[in-house]
Amino acid sequence: MSRKIEEVKPLNPPNISLYTCGPTVYDFTHIGHMRTYSNNDFLKRALIYLGYKVNHVMNVTDVGHLSGDDDSGEDKMEKGAKKYGKTVWDVAKFYTEFFFKTTDALNIIRPNIVCNATEHVGEMIQLIERLKQNGYVYETKEALYFDVKKFENYGKLSGQKLEEKLQAVREEINVDKEKKHPADFALWFKRVGRFSDHTMHWTSPWGEGFPGWHIECSAMSMEYLGETIDIHSGGIDHVPVHHENEIAQSEGATRKQFVKIWFHNNFLTVDGQKMSKSLGNFYTIEDIEKNKLNPVSLRLLFLQSHYRQSLNFTWQSARASQEAFNRLKEIASNLKSDKILSSVKSSKAIAFQQQFRDALEDDLQTPQAVAVMWDMLKSDIINEEKYFLLMDFDKVFGLNLSNITEEKIDANIITLAEKRLEARKQRNFDASDRLRIKIEKAGFKIEDVGSSYKIKKV
Ligand code: AMP
Ligand code: ZN
Repeated sequence: MSRKIEEVKPLNPPNISLYTCGPTVYDFTHIGHMRTYSNNDFLKRALIYLGYKVNHVMNVTDVGHLSGDDDSGEDKMEKGAKKYGKTVWDVAKFYTEFFFKTTDALNIIRPNIVCNATEHVGEMIQLIERLKQNGYVYETKEALYFDVKKFENYGKLSGQKLEEKLQAVREEINVDKEKKHPADFALWFKRVGRFSDHTMHWTSPWGEGFPGWHIECSAMSMEYLGETIDIHSGGIDHVPVHHENEIAQSEGATRKQFVKIWFHNNFLTVDGQKMSKSLGNFYTIEDIEKNKLNPVSLRLLFLQSHYRQSLNFTWQSARASQEAFNRLKEIASNLKSDKILSSVKSSKAIAFQQQFRDALEDDLQTPQAVAVMWDMLKSDIINEEKYFLLMDFDKVFGLNLSNITEEKIDANIITLAEKRLEARKQRNFDASDRLRIKIEKAGFKIEDVGSSYKIKKV
């Protein structure tokens, strides 16, 4: 909000409360979304790396999100239901699963709490009541609106003045004629007029209806993280409307600061235009896999641009990231040895670790952090220190480089190794030898390590 790099000063150190605006689950998640969620993941992992305990909450929008910024458009869930010939509930379930299938494929850590808007309508109604008591709400035949003129400093996040908003908002036929100001936004839609057939509806003090989009984030962040949160994240498109509205609703109700630090991600573009569902210029995880790319390699692509810069997607850059990822996997498996360090001792290695921390602490400069990694790998520090630092940095990068060797081993070889372990436990050394020979014939070497084993491809 200050447009300055702020020092992170958590309310309850070392805990950090982090709220992320989640997906609207009416259509396929694409890799544009994944840039935002990967950057959130880098932020979260970096905070954990730096010693904080992060409590991360993310909502899933499954009701109330209309297209357009002025509550005039079509309900996105109903649009998805029509498009795919399913019920809104089935659409929500299907695309929520697709979203998490995608984030899992990119090795994005799931939030501690994922909360659905449709399961928190009661909390939203209570919050609207609180706003009513504080004088921010007016009611029309169609909806309950937040009166932005009553909220001092509306627009403080984007720096946009209300007069500018007047011109920015489109003329729309669907706009409620009783709305006082174009920037006023719906807290609750009544099941009347264009919404008289709306599938999702709940009973409220204002009759049957459904909540507006913005109120869910205020209600759920309050429910799970309290009235003031340390960090709130989302895409930059949320700055001028959604987050401005979240601030107005939350601070209007509590009269307390809502968010200490905002973290906004810039877009992934295609030919200079935002990758989006509406423009149809998007790729999903399935397109990535069809092109024989590992979804995790996209993390390297995203790491190499700063979260506040836009990033243009090309297949060429995606392939370059896959190649870099392959190289890293190879380096990791070559560096891996039996000697695992618990820290680094040489002054050069310590300096690399410090540079890595510095890059993260300076507004999450991931491109710099990646550069430190390559410099470290090219340096003359000993292999064990290189491996230690690579694994250390990978806590933030999340490329899963420690699992590389295990990944290469077929499941049937693991089965043989498990049988051999069992045979050894029963002191059946004949059987254990036979199994060892089988494993070796398949091109692997097995070693006993304590009461377990280690397999290597030879
Ligand atoms: P939505 O499901 O449209 O509400 O989007 C979910 C999140 O993804 C929001 O934080 C958006 O800002 C973000 N997002 C959507 N498209 C892109 C894109 N092309 N690049 C980066 N983030 C995006
Ligand atoms: Zn939100």
